[in-house]
Amino acid sequence: MADTALMDKLVSLCKRRGFVFQSSEIYGGLGSVWDYGPLGVALKRNVKDRWWSSMVHARDDIEGLDAAILMHPRVWEASGHVAGFTDPLVDCRQCKNRFRADDPRIKGTPGQPDAQCPVCGTRGSLTEPRMFNLMFKTFMGPVEDSASVVYLRPETAQGIYVNYLNVLQSSRQKIPFGIAQIGKAFRNEITPGNFIFRTREFEQMEMQFFVQPGTDGDWFDRWREWRMEWHRSLGLDPAKLQWHQHAGSELAHYAKAAFDIQYQFPFGWQEIEGIHNRGDFDLGRHQEFSGKKLEYFDQAENRRYLPYIVETSAGADRVTLTLLVDAYREEQVEGETRVVLGLHPGVAPIKAGVFPLVKKDGMPELATTLYHELRRELACFYDDSGAIGRRYRRMDEAGTPFGITVDGETLAARTVTIRHRDSMQQERVGLDRVEGYIKDKLGATPGS
Ligand code: ATP
Repeated sequence: MADTALMDKLVSLCKRRGFVFQSSEIYGGLGSVWDYGPLGVALKRNVKDRWWSSMVHARDDIEGLDAAILMHPRVWEASGHVAGFTDPLVDCRQCKNRFRADDPRIKGTPGQPDAQCPVCGTRGSLTEPRMFNLMFKTFMGPVEDSASVVYLRPETAQGIYVNYLNVLQSSRQKIPFGIAQIGKAFRNEITPGNFIFRTREFEQMEMQFFVQPGTDGDWFDRWREWRMEWHRSLGLDPAKLQWHQHAGSELAHYAKAAFDIQYQFPFGWQEIEGIHNRGDFDLGRHQEFSGKKLEYFDQAENRRYLPYIVETSAGADRVTLTLLVDAYREEQVEGETRVVLGLHPGVAPIKAGVFPLVKKDGMPELATTLYHELRRELACFYDDSGAIGRRYRRMDEAGTPFGITVDGETLAARTVTIRHRDSMQQERVGLDRVEGYIKDKLGATPGS
């Protein structure tokens, strides 16, 4: 399948089945902002839950946090975002479009007479590159003046840094320890696109791990390993995951080391998570700008220091897209195209479809009872309309790993048919074992 064709098909499936809709669609949409429908919100929530559980529930050295989106404007001066979170842009004086200066569609050098606008084709109409800040600005309070400017946060990390002492003291943690947060971030991206890959409003899952200077290299290596393992645990094709090391000018001036986890999307290898050894840059800057001491007193060592930070930063939307892209496949079955989302059962929005084979002989009643029992613990979907093959196909497209059919034998032998999405094989399972059977499979790898 051609790469653009795959993305087009995925976008269309996401709309048709209620994963993702364009924001404000009835008004023509809003550029690179997306809404999650019933299946999409469940998928993304499963991603976030798995992240939270691996960070906060499974470990006793990481605490959770939910900081506000709006923060004191000085935070963004300290972080370097006011001065440095910029992209060079050029404007076309003719058609008024704006482009990144390095947009590959631009022919010639912007600002020079030979440069050609990629949209209207005019020569010499492109301005010299100017720096453009990617933060969204708004105003706080009743007066819209420069003193009341606040920003929508472009990353969640700063909320963690400015609360590091609060969390340390209130949780009675000791270094090394971490703070994890999931929340919205906003960037006025100039070249957004590729569906929910790069959007202007998105969610981040960030964890900042505070360590003693000198131990940061070891912690960085450990976190790299753990984070790759987490992505593999989502059932992603391991051959489509790779490391990309930041080197030379790509490495931020304050970072000691940085690696991205990349996935091979139809539009190329792209970052889904960054793991950074940030040294003491962040706490050092906040200490300087706020005038508050942010040092840690290490009792075991009997000395004070500013902790170093190892950061893991992933996008919830990007991981969701990765799962969708990785899971999408088309197969020919009995002369028909079967569209399947082969999602890992642990992240699938619906775990099981429950179907009465026919609408008579007590089957709908039994199936409804089973459905109500199962849905107390598992996300399920009841469907009694159309041929059973059609109902299976609808669940295949939604990524539902199991189909449970109540048939004639159920009434006689108290067993149901469980049909597996990936292999399409069916087996009979006792009615009283159905819930346990499905729960067992949720942690297993797909296909097993
Ligand atoms: P990119 O190079 O793709 O712009 P970045 O290096 O600016 O990303 P970070 O600032 O390290 O990204 O953000 C951490 C994570 O947040 C990224 O790995 C990505 O998953 C997610 N993310 C960043 N920007 C966006 C965006 N505009 N839309 C969706 N997710 C994003």
